[in-house]
Parts: sequence; structure tokens; C-alpha cells
Amino acid sequence: MKYTEFEIISKYFKRNQKKDVNEIKGIGDDSALIKIPKNNILAISTDTLVEGTHFLKNISPEDLGYKTVAVNLSDLAAMGAEPKWTTLSITMPESNNIWLKKFSSSFFKILNKYNVRLIGGDTNRGSLSITLSMYGLLKKQIALLRSNASIGDLIYVTGTLGESAAGLFLLKKNIFIKNVNIRNYLIKKHLNPIPRVSEGMALRKIANAAIDLSDGLIADLDHILNDSQCGANINLNKIPISKVLIDNFQSQNYLNWALNVGEDYELCFTISKKNIDKLKIIKKKFLVNFTCIGYITPIEQGFNLFDNQKKIIFKKKGFNHFD
Ligand code: ADP
Ligand code: MG
Repeated sequence: MKYTEFEIISKYFKRNQKKDVNEIKGIGDDSALIKIPKNNILAISTDTLVEGTHFLKNISPEDLGYKTVAVNLSDLAAMGAEPKWTTLSITMPESNNIWLKKFSSSFFKILNKYNVRLIGGDTNRGSLSITLSMYGLLKKQIALLRSNASIGDLIYVTGTLGESAAGLFLLKKNIFIKNVNIRNYLIKKHLNPIPRVSEGMALRKIANAAIDLSDGLIADLDHILNDSQCGANINLNKIPISKVLIDNFQSQNYLNWALNVGEDYELCFTISKKNIDKLKIIKKKFLVNFTCIGYITPIEQGFNLFDNQKKIIFKKKGFNHFD
């Protein structure tokens, strides 16, 4: 049987989630009502995922449910905010119970993992498209702004770069490499990126600027440089590339994936040298590596990439929807 809009909401999206004292009204009225705790700042981010643009047509509902949440969590992570609430606007071609069941199970699984409550949304018919807004809290300390990098700051990234883009490449071109486990691993890195939420919250106290890497390191770091009115020197040899990529692909491929394609959802942040000891302490708490890839320079020096001492010519392209 096909459910109506209201049946879809109550069956798949109105769930019993862990109580939250700040939530006065969740799903079910004309708007949700949330109390912002004293001395907190509300961080708000929205991301839309459109079929064919942000995800391939044959993506599973489980992967779509996960990714919708992960990319929004990543934006809050890049501000250092603690994610708390979300609203979901979903447009789909039909009311398909099997699809909705799988999508919503996976959606709530990751929401619950990060302690985020779904407090409202909108449900419509049309081409598949999902817009999620995520609301988080920043306690007292200010956020990790893109505009706050200073000359002399060291530039770090979390994790390794390029694996997600490698997975996307294998999926899109339908390429099969010898080792099927490696293929599946890379595709999983693309479909199930891990948002660096607790890392972002820990970095808020010691880093100056941050961004999450969705469009490739060059384009994303360039946002920090433009907003902070700075330049940067980056050493290509320091960019963390996994052994899987090094062993299975050519360096021009994985460097291009890391620099220009992205979708890693790792954090890129700048930190004053005086906070390096504090960073070392924080690092111990996390499984993920933090790697220094360069430093911030005065704006007159521009954005430079070095292969050891040799300057590399590059285009600041990254991914742009309107290219
Ligand atoms: P309205 O007509 O006032 O826009 P709706 O009928 O769209 O209200 O939604 C009814 C209630 O269900 C609202 O509280 C809304 O926030 C919630 N809602 C609608 N769609 C979703 C969804 N996909 N996920 C979560 N909550 C939803
Ligand atoms: Mg509505």
C-alpha cells in the first residue's frame, strides 16, 4: 500500500529519540520550538543533495540516508559546534515503503550515533532531492571561522585525502580493480565519510580557522586564505595519502583526487605554533591522524604548492557546480 504524506511522516520520521530538555516542541506542529541554553551560540548549516549532482542515481537508500547526515555534520564540525537538532526536507518521486524504511533506518542510525534529534521537516513529491538543516551549539568559546587564520599558523588536515574521490572514480567509471576488497573499501570511503565532529569540538579551543574538505584541498583552503586575507605554502609531499592509494594508483591520480576532487569530509585547520603542544595532547584522544602540510604566509606571497623545493603550477579549480 502507498502511504499518504502524513502517514509517511508518522511512520518513518516521527520516532522516539532520546529526550532533550531544550526541545519544547519537535515534529507535529507548524514549527519546532527550541530553547537555546544560556551563553550558547546556535550554529546552523544547510546542505542539499540532488540526484545526479550529489549522488549517483543507483545509490542505495541506506547510503543516501547516511551521507545526507554525514555531510551536514561535517559542516558543523568545521565550526567546532556540537550538533543537536536537524530538519529534513525530502522530495521523492513516489511513496515507496521499502525505500523509505531503509532510508529512515540508516538516517536515524547515524543521527542517534551523534545524538542529534530530528525536530521537523517537509515531505514532497518530485525528483529525488534532500535538504537537511543541522543545528548545533557553541558553548562560550567562539567558532572556528574561515576568516581567522594568521600569518605563521601551521596548516593541518585530519585523516588522509583522496580515497573518497578514488571511490567515486571507481563507481562512476564502473572500473574494477584486481582486489575487490580495496575497491569496496574505497567506495565505502566515498559513500560513508566520517564527519570529524568530536575533533572539531576539541580543536575549537586551540585552532584559529577551519573548513571541511568537500571540494578538494585547493578550493577549500583557498576559502580560508581569501576570508583571512592570507597566503599559504603547502608541501605536496606532506599531504597524507593512504597506503591503499599509493600502492594501487599513480601519484598524479591520487594527488588530483586529494587536491581537486575532494569529498573527503576531513577537516583542514590552521593553528598558531604556540598551541602545538596542546594539539599533541588532543591528538592522543583520536584515532585519526593530524598532519601538518604547510603554513600561512602574508597575502602578497599568494597560494603556493611545493614539491619539496620546486614550485608547482596549479589551477585553483576544485569542484564548482556552475563550471
Ligand atoms: P505544514 O503544512 O505546516 O508545513 P507539514 O504537513 O509539512 O506541515 O508537516 C507536519 C509536521 O511534520 C511538521 O511539524 C513538520 O515539521 C513535520 N515534518 C514534515 N515532513 C517531515 C520529515 N520529512 N521529517 C520530519 N518531520 C517532518
Ligand atoms: Mg510543510
